[in-house]
Amino acid sequence: MIIKICPICEAKVIRKKITDTYTYKGKSITIKNIPIYHCTGCGEDFCDEEREGNVNKKLDALYREAEGLLQPQEIVEIRKKFGYSQEEFAEIVGGGPKAFAKYEKGTVTQSRSMDNLLRILRDSTDAMAILTNQKALCTCEAKSVYQVKKDKSSSCSKTSQS
Ligand SMILES: [Zn+2]
Repeated sequence: MIIKICPICEAKVIRKKITDTYTYKGKSITIKNIPIYHCTGCGEDFCDEEREGNVNKKLDALYREAEGLLQPQEIVEIRKKFGYSQEEFAEIVGGGPKAFAKYEKGTVTQSRSMDNLLRILRDSTDAMAILTNQKALCTCEAKSVYQVKKDKSSSCSKTSQS
């Protein structure tokens, strides 16, 4: 959105770059060169979309840091440690096919429970095996149950038909 006149007093607005410091739970960041619109009449400042994108990304990073959540790059490293694509990884740990594309870009911040799971996967030598074995077991059990049923029905077919 391009603003030319002030929505409050209708005076002329100019482009300006400001430096701002944001604090969250004792952690703070100073962001330089934030583009804004400044009203020459009433002195009000207005944000623009560029600010929204860049600043929000930095604020999300600050939030994750303050909350002790993994940063996007750390999530990439955990996934790559196991050699999975984003879709494969989501298939195993949950979260939906597009979840890791979003976490790894930083457009969405993972939930606390997802964050916990990812940390366990990163730091435990067994956690991934538990998740993948469970999947393998499920498939095998399903197959063996199916096999048993099939065998039973074929062995019982003579008696049931008589
Ligand atoms: Zn104004």
